[in-house]
Amino acid sequence: MSELLSSTTADRYATLLESTTRLIADQVAAVSQPFSGASRAELQRLVDDVDLDAAGLGTEAAVQEVGRLFLPHAVWFHDPSYAAHLNCPVALPAVAAEAVLAAVNPSVDTYDQSTIGTLMERRLVDWTARRIGFADGDGIFTSGGTQSNLQALLLAREHTLLRNPALSRADGLPRLRILATASSHFSVAKAALLLGLGEDAVIKVADDGAGRMDPAALDAALTEVRRAGGLAMAVVATAGTTDRGVIDPVDAIADRCERAEVWLHVDAAYGCGLLVSRRRRSLLVGIERAHSVTVDYHKSFFQPVSSSAVIIRDPAAFAPTVWHADYLNPRQDAEPNQVDKSLQTTRRFDALKLWTTLRALGAERLGELFDSVIDLARAVHDEVAADRDLELVGRSQLSTVLFRYAPAGLDEAARDSAVPAIRRALFESGRAHVAKTMINGRPCLKLTLLNPDAGLDDVRRILLLIKRTGAALAGIEPGDVLDQQRSRLRAAAEAAA
Ligand SMILES: *Cc1c(COP(=O)(O)O)cnc(C)c1O
Repeated sequence: MSELLSSTTADRYATLLESTTRLIADQVAAVSQPFSGASRAELQRLVDDVDLDAAGLGTEAAVQEVGRLFLPHAVWFHDPSYAAHLNCPVALPAVAAEAVLAAVNPSVDTYDQSTIGTLMERRLVDWTARRIGFADGDGIFTSGGTQSNLQALLLAREHTLLRNPALSRADGLPRLRILATASSHFSVAKAALLLGLGEDAVIKVADDGAGRMDPAALDAALTEVRRAGGLAMAVVATAGTTDRGVIDPVDAIADRCERAEVWLHVDAAYGCGLLVSRRRRSLLVGIERAHSVTVDYHKSFFQPVSSSAVIIRDPAAFAPTVWHADYLNPRQDAEPNQVDKSLQTTRRFDALKLWTTLRALGAERLGELFDSVIDLARAVHDEVAADRDLELVGRSQLSTVLFRYAPAGLDEAARDSAVPAIRRALFESGRAHVAKTMINGRPCLKLTLLNPDAGLDDVRRILLLIKRTGAALAGIEPGDVLDQQRSRLRAAAEAAA
């Protein structure tokens, strides 16, 4: 048998998927920490021991091997002690849709390869555009926020060159500038490089001290770009910075962009979940004035990787980048071929996952899930601020928590070095995953809370682990042990009195 999916292997396919699903389900149910804690050397040995040139094991045996090799050492985002990066536990309807995708294997580059799939993706693009507030928007699903940002800035570049016909490409590109804060995502700088703009193209606009763009500083930066002979190509406002989880004042930024006639891109890779939040939609006020928006459904819409889109206000902005190929999407073709506006050719029908999730849960429930992790982050901010062994570093508007291990006995230098040491010790134990970053030049621990099924007690356990690990690394008594000793002494003193 060929082991390819066909009408003759359909029953075999069903049996195989049942056993595979059982294997995964058993592992998911057994997970008690985010990672096994196996060392990299150990994992390297497991990987190297597999002979990729050997005769085939047969499908069942190969899947069982994956069950022994990969699943036990995977990182599980549904575990309540996973709080490192912007990864989410995945929505079940989306996981089911992923199985559909894998089997049908449509490609949404042309209509003739995907038919109704293309129409479903276009409905979701329209749906997202309307949620943003674009009356007549357009867009395309992408592989992630990095690609969405790249494509948005490509459209901004072409838009700017078209509006300045006196500029040739050769003279124009080195003069183009992108304005964003230091907290904007690094994919913006990467896009500038890919777009041929050079490394100095991204101008850092000052923030308000809390990581949000200062509109007055944007005014000054726009003036300075003009004075220096540059041309502002785009302003990137971040709706949910990756570390601080704060939202640039999009409405005030849009005022400046309109006045200066500059493309406004809103990177809402993180904050896009607010589009379906009943309680916090207003945090995105002004987003409807953007030229382009990045949304990462694989972050705050609880979708499996990959699922992202770039959504634009004026569909005509795609025109300068449309490419026609005789064999695929000829100019005279009347069918809606999404490859016209995509950077990719063959492309996954990721939209089916979001479609199934929306139909299963409804938009409002999805918004409540994102709201609940933001509520949790609020509670954790208070908890950290009240803890004398921890120091809260700013408050996020979304679901990150930045802090340092800072007990009385530890000087600043020791607190600095405690950050990577604690993160690494937790990661290597496999018991909890937290992230680290730099805020204003100082190392900080970071929790990214994106698991609606994790509660305050789960986060308290992570914090306790951090304090105990920090104390052990610093060779001091953990604060909670001291508290216990004190209360025992007090109890003994009261008993004696
Ligand atoms: C995650 C993130 C990105 C990059 O998105 P990917 O999907 O990882 O490529 C871009 N911008 C912001 C603000 C992000 O948080």
